[in-house]
Amino acid sequence: MIYEVVIGVEVHAQLRTKSKLFCGCGTVFGLAANSQTCPLCLGLPGSLPVLNQAAVEMAVRAGLALNCTIAADNLFARKNYFYPDLPKGYQISQYEAPICEHGWIEIASSEGKRRVRIRRAHLEEDAGKSVHVAGANGSRVDLNRAGTPLLEIVTEPDLRSADEVVTYLKGLRDVLMYQDVCDGDMEKGNFRCEPNLSLRPLGQKEFGTKVELKNINSFKFVKDAMEYEIKRQTKVLNEGGKILQETRLWNTDRGETAVMRSKEEAHDYRYFPDPDLVPLKISKEWIDQVRSSLAELPADRRNRLQQEFGFSEYSAGVLASDKNVLEYFEQCVAEAEKLGFSKMEVGKELANCITVDFRGLTRHGVTVTPPNPLLFDVNPYSEGILELTIIPEKNLLELVVMKMKGEISGPIYKAVLEEMINTRRPAAEIIDANGLRQVSDEGTIEKIIDEVLEKNPNQVAQFKEGKQQVLGFLVGQVMKASGGKANPGKVNELLKKKLGEAVKI
Ligand code: ADP
Ligand code: MG
Ligand code: ZN
Repeated sequence: MIYEVVIGVEVHAQLRTKSKLFCGCGTVFGLAANSQTCPLCLGLPGSLPVLNQAAVEMAVRAGLALNCTIAADNLFARKNYFYPDLPKGYQISQYEAPICEHGWIEIASSEGKRRVRIRRAHLEEDAGKSVHVAGANGSRVDLNRAGTPLLEIVTEPDLRSADEVVTYLKGLRDVLMYQDVCDGDMEKGNFRCEPNLSLRPLGQKEFGTKVELKNINSFKFVKDAMEYEIKRQTKVLNEGGKILQETRLWNTDRGETAVMRSKEEAHDYRYFPDPDLVPLKISKEWIDQVRSSLAELPADRRNRLQQEFGFSEYSAGVLASDKNVLEYFEQCVAEAEKLGFSKMEVGKELANCITVDFRGLTRHGVTVTPPNPLLFDVNPYSEGILELTIIPEKNLLELVVMKMKGEISGPIYKAVLEEMINTRRPAAEIIDANGLRQVSDEGTIEKIIDEVLEKNPNQVAQFKEGKQQVLGFLVGQVMKASGGKANPGKVNELLKKKLGEAVKI
């Protein structure tokens, strides 16, 4: 039996507000346990929630960037469950009236560009964390995260493969990061994704029973977990079994998913409107105001890069694939313009350096410590590029400019780039310390040529007999003798002159 994979994804994106959703506590990651808490987020009786306007604005911003309709009338609901990291015994969320609905995001799939529909995105507060200290008894609870604002973004079951899910997630993360509403750091848990996955016989209309996957904190694991789950469900179905609706946890060490809990339904949570919060009204004027302040969307940036710099769709895609990379590139260009270079002129060289040379080096075993190694395994667009921010923009530009001016040769430029990645020293320092500046001085090059010609009388003789190909060999010998420092153009020119003289004799 051939099965079709059906996936819908729920993402919890932490909104990057300074304070929590319903109290004034801070949202800084990694502080001492329970140092960012107050009676409200500790769930003490008698405390009353006050809605954070910045969180609402960020939700509207995200919703608009995702082509959603923004609800004028919003309700907050209590989602009741018991867990140690949820002291109130309920989570404030939105149920019937989510703030954003009916949006879409465009992704590149194997059949070209297509839309993934976003069913809804709603505001809710995060829970705290249970902490398990190795060797210590029991569990501890850290409530620093309790009450931080989340936007839960839910797609329709429109995705059809693990790769498509990763493409969608990468695209969604880009949108949120470009709009400055989420940090997108999966390891810190501020961009958490939960794919729901089911199989159905190819051609069947009805969906199969779905399984929800949790505990996935990198794009690589998203792919691994889904691929494992597709195999598992295929096996169960092929053996005549039934898929149980359940939540399964991805176990990175074992490379498999395992049951966490069986099916839960909305009514299990006894949702009801939170009596402590008034309905939230959002005016059309405010929505329009937010809309007019939206940052450029990734697709628009790609188009702009193609137009401004004449880049291919691929190069533009690589540079626009991550906000940090694009900002880095634009910073380099701005520095170059200060030095009197034109955008076009320096843009091509920089893009080449970043998208080809830098990537080539970082993918082929140059050891650098990336800020988040797990993000690099899946998307070819971002693979290995983020790491370049370890080189200050000025330094990278300095290297590229030296290459453009012919002060260093191609091979040396690459060697210096590698050294810069390894040692983080500026290009000029590396070049001067190793005497790597390109030699264009004719006298010096002629001397090397003379030596090479003397050492290779056979080749010279062959050239005289009309074997033109020997020239390439001799150029190579001269370059080698100069330690790669001779200006190849000059070598070619002078060698031809010399050999011409030699032939004439
Ligand atoms: P639940 O009520 O269990 O949370 P929802 O209908 O709210 O389920 O859907 C949650 C997510 O699961 C959505 O992203 C949705 O697109 C996806 N989904 C729903 N049904 C299926 C299915 N049969 N197979 C795969 N994904 C599904
Ligand atoms: Mg759900
Ligand atoms: Zn608080």
